[in-house]
Amino acid sequence: MLKKELEIFTFADLLNHYPNRHIDKTQINKISDIGANTDYIQVAGTLLFFEIIGEKRSKRLVAQIKDASGILELTWFQGITWVQKNLIVGSKYLVFGKTGFFGGKPQIVHPEIEAFVPAKADGRSFLEPVYPCTEKLKARGLNGRQIGKLTYALISILHPDELVENIPASICKQYGLMERYEANCQIHFPTSAASYDKAIERLKFEEFFIAQVRLQLTRLQRYRVSRAVVFEKVGDIFNTFYSKYLPFNLTGAQKRVIKEIRNDTARGHQMNRLLQGDVGSGKTIVALLSMLLAADNGYQSCLMAPTEILAQQHFHGLSELLKEMPVEIALLTGSTKTKERKRILQGLLDDTIHFVVGTHAIIEDIVQFKNLGLAIIDEQHRFGVAQRAKLWAKATLPPHVLVMTATPIPRTLAMTAYGDLDYSIMDELPPGRIPITTVHRYETARASVMDFVKTEITKGRQAYYVYPLIEESETLSYEDLMQGYEQVKSFFPEPAYRISMVHGRQPNEQKDTNMQRFISGDTQILVGTTVIEVGVNVPNASVMVIESAEKFGLSQLHQLRGRVGRGSEKSFCILLTSARVSKEAKERINIMCATNDGFKIAEKDLEIRGPGSIEGTRQSGALNFKLASIVNDREVLEKARAAAELLCEEDQELNMAKNLQLKNYLQQQKGKNGWSKIS
Ligand code: ADP
Ligand code: MG
Repeated sequence: MLKKELEIFTFADLLNHYPNRHIDKTQINKISDIGANTDYIQVAGTLLFFEIIGEKRSKRLVAQIKDASGILELTWFQGITWVQKNLIVGSKYLVFGKTGFFGGKPQIVHPEIEAFVPAKADGRSFLEPVYPCTEKLKARGLNGRQIGKLTYALISILHPDELVENIPASICKQYGLMERYEANCQIHFPTSAASYDKAIERLKFEEFFIAQVRLQLTRLQRYRVSRAVVFEKVGDIFNTFYSKYLPFNLTGAQKRVIKEIRNDTARGHQMNRLLQGDVGSGKTIVALLSMLLAADNGYQSCLMAPTEILAQQHFHGLSELLKEMPVEIALLTGSTKTKERKRILQGLLDDTIHFVVGTHAIIEDIVQFKNLGLAIIDEQHRFGVAQRAKLWAKATLPPHVLVMTATPIPRTLAMTAYGDLDYSIMDELPPGRIPITTVHRYETARASVMDFVKTEITKGRQAYYVYPLIEESETLSYEDLMQGYEQVKSFFPEPAYRISMVHGRQPNEQKDTNMQRFISGDTQILVGTTVIEVGVNVPNASVMVIESAEKFGLSQLHQLRGRVGRGSEKSFCILLTSARVSKEAKERINIMCATNDGFKIAEKDLEIRGPGSIEGTRQSGALNFKLASIVNDREVLEKARAAAELLCEEDQELNMAKNLQLKNYLQQQKGKNGWSKIS
């Protein structure tokens, strides 16, 4: 029963089933204290009577207890037989539960009830733990307090040696951590509020620390065992491009990241780098320079984008930049024609094609390289293990991998979810960007929004209109979009204005044509769904209108907004919503209007939604902490991370005497949670 309901299999599990609150047994309220606003209450009283009433579904056990101040009704719908067996009229009981009123009388449904024992008479502490419990268990009479009794029994027979310290003593000392045994006792049965806090602090630190040690070891292990191609030199190709064709000066952040990549790829172990940069921070050029570095060393590169549009855009942009360079670049996507595909496959095999840009089509088995040295994955957090494996299969030595994220993720999240990867941040935008102004307007003001867009178009700018994808129904989304399209058209009549539209239902060719017309400036307005979200780069576009903005998540809004503000002109993002939006949606919109900083937005997103739901993060055990939270315990995480890093750098094998207990602990725990080698 415990197994199924609470996943408690072992004594250790029981020990790790932490109370969600403590109650002070000496705090007994009067029944007459119960008012409309009372939440949980603890009372003690004598059982007046109990009886089973009703039939079938409405069958219930009703009892009443009485103290000096009044009478309280208790009701059970489940576990009736068991509960009733333990009730003795005239005995005194301690009752705890959430109060409510039924027919004007106070009552508790499914209270926790036990024979009343005066405080301290049983030698236990004042603060008694109450454990999370399921209704099913309660129905069987195993309530939170009963679990406490089991835990108490367990702790009383537990010897400190059976709960060996797993954090090296020097670290415990440095961070003032309570010992492990002590912390485990105190979290269940605290002797004071202060020691309870210390226990919590210690256990949170432990959770983070153990996780970080594992991640660091995985990372270091990869360095040691993985052999990889070596990019030993920066040669003519890189240097020529850098001095003659680089269209701008690199930002400090871009230079730093290039250096990191240069170092990584020169060492003979495989690079696995996550590049985090805000929208528009200039990740593409970093990708290109890395590819040139590979070419200088005789290796081919591939650049993979999540959509066909984006792949094409990369291809065109890179081809343009490389037009005077002695490197061959090709575009391979699902819609590449057979003849061209044949040519590319052959070119990759005999190394007459050096760079290939494309979609997932690149990782199909049929695509083989002569000597793939670098794989870049753009605008994606996630690139599955299976997909990586497919890439590996294309080379004798695994190629270096650079993953570029679509939008930033918070540092704490990156540290836990991607802590085994090397990780770069580009937190600097190219100079000269004018910040985007973001405003919120209600749909009732649409006409004036359209007028504003008109003045921008008159100035020679372009505009996006984005409609949400309605998750429940593709048809609805489509209708929404079509309606929107008609509406936009009525405000911007042809031939004075030209509009193109893109959406997921179009055949790729049509989508591309429409997209290309906007990119080339042939159309001034692009109406679309979120297909335009990622990566699209049209510097002349200065307005982004997002319809039903309340239906978008923060990172999506930020991505969409990132489509404007890419040129030298002032840009605007207009968030249209209906008059009534939820509090959460309003909060998102306020954040968007308040900041352009993707890292700040990511932090907020994490705060609002919690770690599990952040798009693109691994749903692995990496985020399953019992006590610690990457949102609220950031400082603890930073400390644990620092401690783990230092320790692992110093002693990769954990063979030093001071680390042996930790090593043992890790070995015992192996396979008990969702950790695995994920990169
Ligand atoms: P993202 O990081 O969102 O992929 P891009 O690589 O598409 O950003 O770059 C956005 C725009 O900024 C492009 O037009 C690009 O040419 C330009 N850009 C990139 N780096 C610089 C720089 N150092 N100086 C000026 N413009 C730059
Ligand atoms: Mg990009």
